[in-house]
Amino acid sequence: MRGPIPPGEWRTFAACLDEDPDLFFPPSEKRRYVAQIFEAQAVCGRCRVRRRCADLAVSSGEQFGVWGGELPSQRRPRMRAPKAVSD
Ligand code: SF4
Repeated sequence: MRGPIPPGEWRTFAACLDEDPDLFFPPSEKRRYVAQIFEAQAVCGRCRVRRRCADLAVSSGEQFGVWGGELPSQRRPRMRAPKAVSD
């Protein structure tokens, strides 16, 4: 994740804070990048804020990168899903 993080904000708990941000942005989902994708997903797999990260990517329409361990192709169906209506 990129950009300054305000103290106490959920991203301060991210497992990727000390990782190279480029790890999470493979050029594509093609087979040649599978090692990079798996490495990024392994970091996400031990992240305490994984669900929030994945939800942020969906709600912001993030088209690139591994967020919450999910690739763009994995979150796209949730981006298209109609929002639940509450009373
Ligand atoms: S889920 Fe992955 S990309 Fe998201 S904050 Fe955690 S380690 Fe970083």
